[in-house]
Order: sequence, then C-alpha cells, then structure tokens
Amino acid sequence: MANNQHQVKAKKYLGQHFLKDESVAQKIADTLTLNGYKNVLEIGPGMGVLTKYLLKKDVITYVIEIDTESVEYLQANYLNLAPRIIEKDFLKYDVNTVFNNESFAIIGNFPYNISTQIVFKTLEMRNQIPEFSGMFQKEVAERICSKEGSKVYGILSVLTQAFYDAEYLFTVPPNVFNPPPKVDSGVLRLIRKSNYTLPCNEPLFFKTVKTAFQQRRKTLRNSLKTFNFSDNLKANSIFGKRPEQLSVQQFIELTQLIETEI
Ligand code: SAH
Repeated sequence: MANNQHQVKAKKYLGQHFLKDESVAQKIADTLTLNGYKNVLEIGPGMGVLTKYLLKKDVITYVIEIDTESVEYLQANYLNLAPRIIEKDFLKYDVNTVFNNESFAIIGNFPYNISTQIVFKTLEMRNQIPEFSGMFQKEVAERICSKEGSKVYGILSVLTQAFYDAEYLFTVPPNVFNPPPKVDSGVLRLIRKSNYTLPCNEPLFFKTVKTAFQQRRKTLRNSLKTFNFSDNLKANSIFGKRPEQLSVQQFIELTQLIETEI
C-alpha cells in the first residue's frame, strides 16, 4: 500500500503503542470467529496495522479513533475505509449512531489506560455484542479470564464471565511495539453465552459482586453487612466464604438468596 503520509508520532497520553509485527496483527485479526454478526468495530486503529487484515474478511469494518493525526493517516491510506472511520472517543460515543441496534463484534489493540472501561462499556451493551477480542496489558487479560481461587479473580472476572466465555489466547512481548510498553501484553477472546440473561436480579447481581470484592479479604457475612440480612440468611454457609472463593454460578445463587429478603 502506498504510504501517502508520514508515520503518526506516538502520543503517550493516548496510550499509543503501535504494533510493528505484521504476523501478530494478522493473528489478532484471525481471533474473530465471524459467527453471529456482520459488523466489526475496531477501537483505536492507529495506523491500521490490524485494520488491513480486517478489511480482507467478509465483514463490514468500522473503526473508532480519538487521534486526529491517526484519522488523517487512515483517510489517506485506506480510501475504502474512509466512510467508516469514526473520529470519536469510544467511551463517550453512542455507537448506535452507526449500528442502529444491529449486532457488532469489537476488536482492537486497545489503549491500555482505558481498557477496563472498554470492557465495562461492552458489558453494558452485551445485547448487541456477541464477540469481543483483542489485546490488553497481560495482567488485565489474565484477570478477565481468571477463575475463582485465583489471586487476580475479581469484579472484572465475575461480571465478564457471567455473560461471556472468556479465553486467554496468547502473550505478546514488548519488542513488537513502537514504542515498546513496559509490560507484556495478552490477547483474549470473549464469546457471548447462548443464554446471557441471568436467572436473578441483574442490577442486584452487579451490586453484590462489587460490594463483596471491595473488601476481598473479608467473609461475605462482613463485606455484605450493609444489605442487612436476617440471622436466618446469615447462617447459610455461603456467607462464611470470601468473594474470591465463589464461582460465577455461586454469585448468582448468592444474589437469588439476597433477593428473597428485599
Ligand atoms: N491498533 C493500533 C494502535 C494501538 S495504540 C496498533 O496496533 O498499532 C491504541 C490506539 O487507541 C491509539 O491509536 C489511540 O489514539 C487510540 N485511542 C486512545 N484512546 C481512545 C479512545 N478513547 N477512543 C478511541 N480510540 C482511542
């Protein structure tokens, strides 16, 4: 492809670490299963290293990029993409301006400073997002995919895995980026569960998980005190556990128990 413009200068405050290894870019693009959607939204395309592999697939690729200099680069180098370049902050943008309530997959080599917020926004929009894959700081990717009993199991793990099957795919070293980040990166994929409506009060589930992990060393009897349960409920052995010991299924059961009293 003709390079019609100077390379974008990496800006630290935007979390810009450009991938320079084409084979890694292709491997990330290939994590999409293409099942159940025809639109793909790439967050933070930068100079399009990942985008060019998405454009070869049988999907409609949109990109959302906050950096004007990157947008100008994309407009100059990816002429076919131009109508589907959105120059916005993903966290603030209403994606239904373009998707009109249709389903779409999310992919990206994400800006690490906002990566957990990207996941939370995805969870809020889970009805429209059957698949999500991409690159995070390795620790964050591990946390999202971790199971009960692990030290890094927390709010992000439980809330994500309540609705998605999470799979850690592979690790990427710093030297394939320009500039290299200080840490390893990890690529994961989330595939929405076929039944992603919880058999319990969903807002209460979110509140229970968040409250329990705010004091992760304490038993649930103590960390969930503000819910004011009856002694009868508190006698249930589940309240003797700490949040990191509970599977997603057990958090659902816990929410169902709490529901009986509110
Ligand atoms: N995908 C490219 C760039 C990764 S760096 C590559 O692999 O080389 C992360 C990108 O996210 C940068 O281009 C940065 O400008 C963009 N970005 C940062 N914050 C953003 C936000 N809030 N919304 C959309 N894009 C953002």
